[in-house]
Amino acid sequence: MPQNQRVDLKNLTLEELTGFLSGLGKEKFRARQLMRWIYRRGVTSFAEMTDLSKALREELAERATASDWTPERVEKSRDGTRKYLFRLADGQTVETVRIPMEGERATLCVSTQVGCAMACTFCLTGTFGLVRNLDPAEIVNQVCAAVKDGPVNNIVLMGMGEPLHNLESVVKALEILYCTEGFDYGPRRVTLSTSGLVPEMLELGRRVRVNLAVSLNATTDAVRDQLMPVNRRYPLRELMNACRKYPLPPSQRITFEYILIRGVNDSLEDARRLVKLLHGVKAKVNLIPFNEHDGSAFRAPGAEAVEAFQRTLLDRGMVAIRRASKGQDISAACGQLKGKLEGAQGLLPAPEQKT
Ligand code: SAH
Ligand code: SF4
Repeated sequence: MPQNQRVDLKNLTLEELTGFLSGLGKEKFRARQLMRWIYRRGVTSFAEMTDLSKALREELAERATASDWTPERVEKSRDGTRKYLFRLADGQTVETVRIPMEGERATLCVSTQVGCAMACTFCLTGTFGLVRNLDPAEIVNQVCAAVKDGPVNNIVLMGMGEPLHNLESVVKALEILYCTEGFDYGPRRVTLSTSGLVPEMLELGRRVRVNLAVSLNATTDAVRDQLMPVNRRYPLRELMNACRKYPLPPSQRITFEYILIRGVNDSLEDARRLVKLLHGVKAKVNLIPFNEHDGSAFRAPGAEAVEAFQRTLLDRGMVAIRRASKGQDISAACGQLKGKLEGAQGLLPAPEQKT
């Protein structure tokens, strides 16, 4: 059978893999064995899977592959952040960022699309538009490649792309990451960040468990319309209603990401409006100073503005964390992915005056 008709096993959930194997007349438990080889041991060559019969190994090699990635480039930041660049089969690229946390821990920031269709005006990825969705294997392979550099404790779907605009592949990728025979990530260790696609948010809640983060970034529809065109489709009222409905396990909260942009959304009036907006929602707020980049005329707020904004939230009993973006020196910080590469090829659109 030609190469391109072989099934990439990294695209399959345990259930699908079981179905694939039973189609070949194999026992169910073989699927679990394969999951263990591929994800726990990181083995992708069937020949090395020594507890499978030689006949099965040969049949698998004929009908299937298990793709495996090596980064084309790894950039290391002074603060320990690493940015991986992967070249996909069709020549496209995606980036994944490994962020060191306290102790030996690390969080991996994973991409779900090449580019993004949501066109947020502050986001570098948004300026490129959507090139294509990643398939489940392409999402999972970012994790497989990163764990070769050491354990990954938490995963955040906050790289390039809008995960809920690629819901099918993202749900499958989560199921693969959660598989107890494989990586065995608990849903509490994985966070999905969305710009606020309301129907997909609710569908996500019905289909799979994952921590939810919502990129809010504004407290009025007028400002959010300007920053995030998705707000014209699903304005704040609808978005907040969906957040109230989102099924949350006890003692869990939705994270609201709020990028502070100088003179746009960083006033104390905004802070007070944010408290009102989140009233009755199990929420925590992540305040992220805007990362300046060549694709945008927006500016980072002053340290005092960030401080005062946070104080206003804390004084009113909200959980509000300030998050410094790591990896700034290698363009690995939030919303900066893909910039340098395409910029170097002259594809970066001229900065637009938005403030
Ligand atoms: N599309 C999803 C997930 C990827 S974007 C979403 O929008 O939530 C990940 C985060 O980076 C979002 O919270 C977004 O608001 C933030 N971000 C984008 N550009 C940024 C910038 N220039 N500075 C700081 N944060 C940025
Ligand atoms: Fe897409 Fe998220 Fe960037 Fe908006 S912030 S353009 S949704 S990646």
